[in-house]
Amino acid sequence: MPDSTPIPETQDYDTAAHEQAVRLSAAQDVPPSTVPGYEVLKRIGAGKFGSVWLAREHNTGKQVAIKFYSQRRGVDWALLGREVEKLAVLYTSRNIVGLISVGWEHDPPYYVMEYLENGSLAQRLDAGPVSIAEAVRMTTRIAQALVHAHGSGILHCDIKPANILLDQDDEPRLCDFGQSRLADERSHSLGTLFYMAPEQADLHAVPDARWDVYALGALLFHLLVGHPPHRSDIQEQRLREARSLAERLEIYRHIIKTAPRPQQHRQISGVDTALAELVDRCLAVDPARRLPNPQAVVDRLQQRERQRARRPLILAGIVLPVLLVLSIMPFALDALRDTVTTSRANLISRAQESDALSAKLLAGSLQRELDDRLNELLAIAEDDTVRQLVQSQASQPRSERQELFALLDRRKHQVELRRAELQRSLDASWFLQDAEGYQRWRSPLSETIDEAFPCRDYFHGQGGRIPASDDDATDDCMNLAPITSPHVSTPYSSRTSQQWKIALSVPVWPPGEDEVSTAPVQGVLARSLNLSSLLADYQKGLATDHDDRAPRYLALVDARSGILLAHPWLTADHLEPLTDLEEDLRVEASLSARLADWVTNANPTMNDEAALRLDHYHDPVSRLAPEEYGGDWIAAMALIGDTGWVAIVQERRGPVVAPVETLRDRLVTSGVIGMLVMTGLIGCMWWLIMSLMSDRRPQWLKSWQRRWQDSSSTPATTPGRISESA
Ligand code: ATP
Repeated sequence: MPDSTPIPETQDYDTAAHEQAVRLSAAQDVPPSTVPGYEVLKRIGAGKFGSVWLAREHNTGKQVAIKFYSQRRGVDWALLGREVEKLAVLYTSRNIVGLISVGWEHDPPYYVMEYLENGSLAQRLDAGPVSIAEAVRMTTRIAQALVHAHGSGILHCDIKPANILLDQDDEPRLCDFGQSRLADERSHSLGTLFYMAPEQADLHAVPDARWDVYALGALLFHLLVGHPPHRSDIQEQRLREARSLAERLEIYRHIIKTAPRPQQHRQISGVDTALAELVDRCLAVDPARRLPNPQAVVDRLQQRERQRARRPLILAGIVLPVLLVLSIMPFALDALRDTVTTSRANLISRAQESDALSAKLLAGSLQRELDDRLNELLAIAEDDTVRQLVQSQASQPRSERQELFALLDRRKHQVELRRAELQRSLDASWFLQDAEGYQRWRSPLSETIDEAFPCRDYFHGQGGRIPASDDDATDDCMNLAPITSPHVSTPYSSRTSQQWKIALSVPVWPPGEDEVSTAPVQGVLARSLNLSSLLADYQKGLATDHDDRAPRYLALVDARSGILLAHPWLTADHLEPLTDLEEDLRVEASLSARLADWVTNANPTMNDEAALRLDHYHDPVSRLAPEEYGGDWIAAMALIGDTGWVAIVQERRGPVVAPVETLRDRLVTSGVIGMLVMTGLIGCMWWLIMSLMSDRRPQWLKSWQRRWQDSSSTPATTPGRISESA
């Protein structure tokens, strides 16, 4: 709570006399005198030089206020004259209290003025600060009154809430011109502490328009914050302790010059930068940095009002384009999504078509390859010389099979020569089995000769190994008859190489017999090959055909079991550590079921529908080599004749859809850049509009605007007429 002891006033008058005057005035219940034409009703208040009374004009009944100058030591004619003269000059201002008449000759002298029934602004501020709008309104009005006063050559020099009265419309009216000075007057004038500019607090100071500017700033600060700037208990105490007026003024100057710049007005919510800066510019300690006159204050306040009035327009100008962009965005995003989805589907479909075609070609070629190899075997098996030698030597001891060995070796060699010429892959082995399943010839030679393999599918053609046992010659197989027609065996994994192999086998009938006869088959001629080498030729072709696209891989799956038979990764090195090929190389269960269903129901004839297209294929090898074969693939599959195998052509999904991803990224980037450019343009446009309308636009813009206005206005200036700029 501030100390309630009043701080002695700064104005240089007889303090004791004043206190007595106030006491006298306060003590008087009766008016100091009668006033002709008026009925003095009641005392409104007392000041330094007398009292103010409410009175009624006899003629009109209008209420007026009469100020009596009743100092004990007599009348201060200078003060009375100064106040009355100024009020007489300024009566036209709506915001200066109106003078009605003067009683110069009366004792005590008095003057009659308008009665302002709502009391003073100081009384209003006792209840606390006012709203920002109200503060701005009051300050603007007082500043306008001061513009009028300064325009008439009068400086008020004591602006403060106590000297502002409120009329019935709550309009502020400036009164008490007791400290006012003419602009060219040299005599000093002291204002009121905490409203007074620091340089004014000097008994030798010459009146200056900027004193009123400082006081206006202090008034606005008080209206916003609830007390004038720099006023605090400590400062008041310091001022109170001063022994003389000169010392008090010195302390005051020191306080204002050394205290930190007032900040409380900035902390009031709703006080914008323009308003806060205006307060700062009015309260500048250095008069050179202060706004030069009340007109500048009015200009600033009006400019701020204009800016605030424009705010909804600016907001609309920013919000509307943003809304426009935002409203377009869902459609643009939808169109983008559509384009991306359609393009992605198109690319995948085109890649799949190409893969399907390759898969069908591969399936057809593999079928032909198998047929060719079977035909090569048939050509030998149907040769009468071969048949006769098989009949005569197959059951002989090995030493007596020299002729059979030589003949079969030669025929095999001929086939290999032809295949080498055609650059086609060779077989793993060739062999001949007799009707009981004993191996009677093999190329290349191995210890398996004369061992029995009756359980192998290439021998009996019943599918798989019967029974599923590692023992190749169980009793269960002993009664199985050899094949009677060319046969492609089910895949089996080789004990020695761990590779998936198949064997192509043909029956060897007795000389002069064939399958329509009743004579039993006397042997089986077979060739075995690694499935991976079967694909090698095609893989090379596929790689060289499509340099422009990501690599594609070929694979074979046994559709009935869902086991991967051939794949680029399935080399001996990779396969060797695997313990359970059938488990490790199985395709996903859902695909396996689909393939099994397909191979059961499909028409083996190649047609357009015979290729299965998958746009999310998971390579079974990804379980074994995730970095190489993990991720999403697209694949096309085609059945290879009636072998039950499926030829797969697969490629990575990423590179296929990459052009769409690039397109999407470009579209998004362009969209973002477009929006930024648009936002920038809207921003620039608004900045230009606002700058053109503002008084604080940059110099280059002002000169550009001037040039533009000059060039678009009437070129010739009438001689003798003074141009506006002049
Ligand atoms: P000082 O003159 O010492 O600076 P002051 O301004 O309070 O102090 P006065 O001008 O004599 O002294 O005013 C005394 C009281 O009368 C004040 O409370 C003021 O609000 C009130 N008063 C002055 N003029 C009018 C008026 N025209 N209408 C209504 N009240 C008035």
